[in-house]
Amino acid sequence: MHEWALAEAVARTVEELVVKGRDVREVEVVLGELQAVDEGVFELALKELFEEMRREKGIDVQGFKITREKAAFKCQVCGHTWTLEEWPVKEEFREAVHFVPEVVHSHYSCPRCGSRDFEITAGRGVKVRVI
Ligand SMILES: [Zn+2]
Repeated sequence: MHEWALAEAVARTVEELVVKGRDVREVEVVLGELQAVDEGVFELALKELFEEMRREKGIDVQGFKITREKAAFKCQVCGHTWTLEEWPVKEEFREAVHFVPEVVHSHYSCPRCGSRDFEITAGRGVKVRVI
């Protein structure tokens, strides 16, 4: 399942940090707004994987919190920046963007100059921060 794959990626990142000598007690997992995730399933998966790390590898992560990062876009032509809320995007398209961020370029353009040459500057993927 998708959520488990993401949680495993997070757990692996934490494990690597610990192996490199970092003191990891608590982590913040930042989920991009464009990353389609069932947070309940994700949280459960992460709990279980951290528990497994404690049992099998002695890596003791005491806690984690999940936060969301807002999506942001930047036009390469006029330099305009905007968020998903500021975009006059149809609701059903918003859903599509969550699943396949790449489709955004074929359907939408910069709200200021109309260029399709823009980039997604935030809100994709999953990040791990040590608290
Ligand atoms: Zn523009």
